[in-house]
Amino acid sequence: MAWIRREDQEDRELRWLGPFGLPSRAAGGRRLAEAEDPLRTAFQRDRDRVLHATAFRRLQHKTQVVAAFEGDHYRSRMTHSLEVAQMARSVARALRCNEDLAEAIALAHDLGHPPFGHVGEEALDEAMQGHGGFRHNAQGTRIVDYLEDRYGHGHGLNLTLALRRSLLKGRVPAGFPLSPDLSNRGPVPVEAQIVDLCDRIAYLSHDLDDGLRAGLFAEQDAATLRLWQQAGAAAGADNRQRIVSEVTSLLIHDLVESADAALAAASASGPCPRLQQGGTMAVMAQELLEFLRQNFYRSPRVLAVMHDGARRIRALFARLCAAPDQLPATAQKRLDQDGRERVVCDYIAGMTDRFLLRATADLDR
Ligand code: MG
Repeated sequence: MAWIRREDQEDRELRWLGPFGLPSRAAGGRRLAEAEDPLRTAFQRDRDRVLHATAFRRLQHKTQVVAAFEGDHYRSRMTHSLEVAQMARSVARALRCNEDLAEAIALAHDLGHPPFGHVGEEALDEAMQGHGGFRHNAQGTRIVDYLEDRYGHGHGLNLTLALRRSLLKGRVPAGFPLSPDLSNRGPVPVEAQIVDLCDRIAYLSHDLDDGLRAGLFAEQDAATLRLWQQAGAAAGADNRQRIVSEVTSLLIHDLVESADAALAAASASGPCPRLQQGGTMAVMAQELLEFLRQNFYRSPRVLAVMHDGARRIRALFARLCAAPDQLPATAQKRLDQDGRERVVCDYIAGMTDRFLLRATADLDR
């Protein structure tokens, strides 16, 4: 029996992918030219590099919403990223888009998050005013392009252009140090849209689960949501976990159907259409998001942990800027090139929640 080579997989992609799926032969190249792998396509190789990155392992100890130290069963950013990858693979496959690219984007989509979630992100952005600001998406590309230096060639993980562009969604602060080839915002593959939508489905579902688990709201409260009611009816049960899992299924199936309709209606030679949930589901998903904002993301218990984290980030930032000789040697080496504030920002952004707590333990005294 003949083994399946990379070229065979690339040929299979061409037969299998729909008009908007991005073949790995069109991955756009790497900044540093490398020989192709005999087994893996360019996107499979990207995915494996992300999986083996230090920044990926750190996601295990970064807060999604409930700080990791409050219990072992809540989602961390790593479990979140794995759930997004699972959903994005399923959706990409169903839509005849590139499953490997979707998986790679999903695994990498949260690499740039600092400790303590969005409140931590705001604290760093504030500290970096006048020095190029901070935002997790832009930081994600900085990590894969530069900070993950395991190969020592200065190009980070040396990922494909298609994947790097896919990570750079949303606003980039003026003056943020991006790799020059990303400053021109080219077309973003449809797989990036799929991951974005699956990211939302993943957190809506698992935050509903985690919020209930943490006792921040009760099932009776969740039962006021139309999406919960519909999921309960579809599951034919009042078992919480079955309902939460049904919420995920409803959102995923709706996404596949409405995205498929949008892709089918678009001209194959034209630009990629914007994918979204169907109208009714979009309204119900928004209702769930508002519910989570009020009862979970902005609950006093969650905010207290987040604000304590932000306070630590501010204090540590000021301390390290005043005494950069306290930075680890690998960070000190970058001081001349990147400037003091950016090096301190990169260092703090890379920290896990618990590392930051340890580094600022003196603040508790
Ligand atoms: Mg996410």
